[in-house]
Amino acid sequence: MGITIQSSIEHIAADLLIAIGEDPQRQGLRETPQRVARMYQELFSGVGVDPQEAIDAVFDEESADPVILRNVPFYSMCEHHLLPFFGSASLAYIPNGRIAGISKLSRALDLACRRPQVQERLTGQVADAIFSALTPRGVVVELAAEHLCMAMRGVQKPGIRMVTTALRGDFAGGQWDRDSLLSLLRRDV
Ligand SMILES: [Zn+2]
Repeated sequence: MGITIQSSIEHIAADLLIAIGEDPQRQGLRETPQRVARMYQELFSGVGVDPQEAIDAVFDEESADPVILRNVPFYSMCEHHLLPFFGSASLAYIPNGRIAGISKLSRALDLACRRPQVQERLTGQVADAIFSALTPRGVVVELAAEHLCMAMRGVQKPGIRMVTTALRGDFAGGQWDRDSLLSLLRRDV
């Protein structure tokens, strides 16, 4: 199967080079279709995979104090232009009897990134994955990203960061409500 996908993307990449007026046989481009095909298989390896699968190490824990991961770098591909958007993510949840290994949360983010995406959906998919895997009291995911489709084409506005937030859970009755968890997530420490 891997060979079929590899050769199929190679052909498409070579055709693309021809279509834009290039010669895929010239020295600098000769290996490009193979490299592009290998790269795209890596960048889109999350297609059809549930990001929740990444959160496979879960531990019983009675603490109900917030767990926060801040400044987690991520890279994804805008599905409208197939250009990267990238930035940093902050993830927080309030446990309800279970916690996850912290590397598992950033792995869930990576899996959700590796498909054609929009930032809004990516944010929600990561929150949903954490919520389904841990059934915590609450989850907040916030992403801040720069989109190359805005920076290097179209409106050509580099440096703009788009911020998206997803909240899941029922914060009622606990020590932490949505606003206090959000401000904790955003606090500089
Ligand atoms: Zn775009």
